[in-house]
Amino acid sequence: SYRASVARSAEVEAVLATTPEKLRMLTGDRPTGALHIGHYFASMKNRVKLQQAGVELWQLIADYQVITDREVIGDVQGNVRNLLIDNIAAGLDPQRATIFTHSAVPALNQLMLPFLSLVSVAELQRNPTVKDEAATAGIKAIGGLLLTYPVHQAADILFCKANVVPVGRDQLPHIEQTRVIARRFNERYGQTFPEPDALLSPATLILGTDGTKMSKSKGNVVELRMTADETAKKLKGAKTDSDRHITWDPDGRPEVANLLLLISLCEGVPPEQVAEEIGDGGGGMLKKRLTDALNTELAPLRARRAELEGDPAYIAEVLRRGNERANEVAEATLTEVRERMGMLYS
Ligand code: ATP
Ligand code: MG
Repeated sequence: SYRASVARSAEVEAVLATTPEKLRMLTGDRPTGALHIGHYFASMKNRVKLQQAGVELWQLIADYQVITDREVIGDVQGNVRNLLIDNIAAGLDPQRATIFTHSAVPALNQLMLPFLSLVSVAELQRNPTVKDEAATAGIKAIGGLLLTYPVHQAADILFCKANVVPVGRDQLPHIEQTRVIARRFNERYGQTFPEPDALLSPATLILGTDGTKMSKSKGNVVELRMTADETAKKLKGAKTDSDRHITWDPDGRPEVANLLLLISLCEGVPPEQVAEEIGDGGGGMLKKRLTDALNTELAPLRARRAELEGDPAYIAEVLRRGNERANEVAEATLTEVRERMGMLYS
């Protein structure tokens, strides 16, 4: 199934190169903290690539998803603002991309009801990402909202009829679930929704400084907004292994391979070559090279970020307009869905 997703992602790349007008993108992040380089390499660069090809973009700030796996939700307002700033700083153009928050679009949740009727509890309980996130959050009981969050995600993707979703590897089970929901809805009520594909990057799973998935909620991150010095300090603490000789061995040496891949993505040089160049330079030289490469790569984003921080009225206006537009489209889709189900009364 991972291989099938990779194959379909390659097909999306082909469509993007020839007929980008056939694509519509939706993707999202949770406002649980500041965005990090995992988001940047796995998803944000593809968002910008799609935008450059003229694809219509929908960028969700998934605030209701914050309450799926935690009791203390933190500074949601501040995190939402930072997500807006990070996305615009990374290159999203609010004139062309609709950036919106889930909680401001009630029709999304109306859409979830018929979708919930199309999935079984057993199917949801099998979802590996739901299991992982429950385990990471350390919660004993899986709440109803955590169990059903792949279904909200289906509503998030399908309300605007998006057919491409740039994401990291952890999101593939949810996209598969969305495809199933779209298919079942279409079979039962008539052709209404596309079956969306993931768009994967060369970095489908970036590891954090502790060697596990880099996650906002875990503190093992290099944040996009960090200074060059903070980045250096964070990377100095990154886990590697005891072998001083650097080699490209993704299966045997995942932490070293992760750092090599990041360098490769910044510099546009194959990771094998980076490994050879560093050779006996060890973890120290590996981290130093990554620090320099990342700080160079992120410098323009960080500069734009600083400017945007100084213009809160603009940021608020981008979200207001985005929510307005998302509501229009969600209402229209909901009307269509009710009509299909024979539940639209004049
Ligand atoms: P949290 O710990 O709160 O879940 P997160 O860091 O996992 O935060 P999300 O908002 O859940 O971030 O994910 C947003 C997007 O970024 C998703 O498409 C996800 O696949 C991608 N993503 C997040 N972390 C990574 C990572 N370490 N490597 C690759 N992609 C990632
Ligand atoms: Mg996550």
